Amino acid sequence: MKANRLRELVVISGKGGTGKTSIAASFAALAENKVMADCDVDASNLHLVLSPHILERREFVGGSKATVVTEKCVGCGRCAQLCRFDAFSFDGPANDVVAKTYRVDPLACEGCGVCAHFCPASAVDFSPRVTGEYYVSATRFGPFIHARLGIGGGNSGKLVTAVRREAVRVAEDNGLSLLIIDGAPGIGCPVIASLAGAGAALIIAEPTVSGLHDMERVAALAYHFGVQAYVCINKHDLNPAMSKAIERHARECGLAVLGKVCYDPAVTRAQMDGLSVIELGASNAAEDIRRLWNAVERVLYSS
Ligand code: SF4
Ligand code: SF4
Repeated sequence: MKANRLRELVVISGKGGTGKTSIAASFAALAENKVMADCDVDASNLHLVLSPHILERREFVGGSKATVVTEKCVGCGRCAQLCRFDAFSFDGPANDVVAKTYRVDPLACEGCGVCAHFCPASAVDFSPRVTGEYYVSATRFGPFIHARLGIGGGNSGKLVTAVRREAVRVAEDNGLSLLIIDGAPGIGCPVIASLAGAGAALIIAEPTVSGLHDMERVAALAYHFGVQAYVCINKHDLNPAMSKAIERHARECGLAVLGKVCYDPAVTRAQMDGLSVIELGASNAAEDIRRLWNAVERVLYSS
């Protein structure tokens, strides 16, 4: 059944809170010969279940940020006039020329570089900054690549790309045949970075009206990037009519529903214990996820 080519599965959802990470964590417990990656770098929480032991730590340079070199600033205010993000305030320390200088709020700076370009005194330092870290870790389920983005770090799409690239390297170095990615929710830059070029995407959908629209949006994104998408309906029994509507709609869009997972308090218990629901023992949700994984594995290895 297994082949040498690296398969890449991204678990995604149209928004946060659909149970995406719980399902990815269960896949970590069920899949063999794999590397796990957490590409939900803005709100990563897969590490809470996988309890990684960090083996390698790499700095992430996410882009440049402006800072005012106080000694050079002449207080002209040109930077504040030009900054579209209101990142400047006129409360910096005095220097030999002026009583007050300008100062940049690093959380407000979007790194566009305009102020540095137009400052008449070359008083804006615009250098690349370390805005996060990513890690290669060992876990009870095998290698795990994850990241931490500093507050206001931005550029999370670029960090996702770094995490993915590192995960592929680890898979290749260790002869692993599968990469399972806990992707970012939504349709923004981080999810595009986790999705583009992947072999398959599993969309975790909730049985609600907004869940249906979220599924549509993220499925359109997968289609745009040429990624084969599949659907899992999580907590399907909370709204059977809506579940049926999602199944029907998925079918009409050419999306196969690979499984449905029931609502089960065991999932919350597992989260509180830092375990995947599979490890907690027999439960209805664990059974559903096992069936789901079997179906996912079949489609992954069928090509
Ligand atoms: S444009 Fe340059 S010199 Fe003028 S206030 Fe801003 S940092 Fe200071
Ligand atoms: S780099 Fe752009 S966003 Fe940052 S302070 Fe300068 S003008 Fe504002």
